[in-house]
Amino acid sequence: MTRCLDCGSARISDQCPFCGLTSAAAEYMFRKRLIKQTTFFLAGSLLFPYLTQIYPPLDLDLMLVFFGVLFFIALGIAVILDRRARKHQEIEILKRVYAGFIPLPWILGFAIFLNGKLDSATNRSSFGAGRGQILDEGTGARDSPPGRAILAIGPESRTSPR
Ligand SMILES: [Zn+2]
Repeated sequence: MTRCLDCGSARISDQCPFCGLTSAAAEYMFRKRLIKQTTFFLAGSLLFPYLTQIYPPLDLDLMLVFFGVLFFIALGIAVILDRRARKHQEIEILKRVYAGFIPLPWILGFAIFLNGKLDSATNRSSFGAGRGQILDEGTGARDSPPGRAILAIGPESRTSPR
């Protein structure tokens, strides 16, 4: 039993009973969609380093390594999918796995961007309200996350001995 490359339904003859495509037409349709998906994935991957640079998180290096691994896994799957589609082999499972990878760079990129944006917004308001107050009373650390608080008040307290 083979499956239609385009819609994935089982078929006995060359023509798919569900979408009506022949195996050659289904292969063409599938590879066209694969190119579109891969383009979308690559666009997100190109944007990812820029998005994370705007508000760089503290563990950015680790994230870039993690993303690099994801990137090459996804590209590997795309290559295997293309080869198997050409040979008209079973691709259903791999097709679904690959579909899960497509929006990942966009989701991850925007998650880091939003996280950094909200983080910097809260930091700005707590420091803008009273820089001297925070340093004098030493209560600023409560308003911001621990990792950032150390970075933010470290040099300040050294430069202004009050
Ligand atoms: Zn079909």
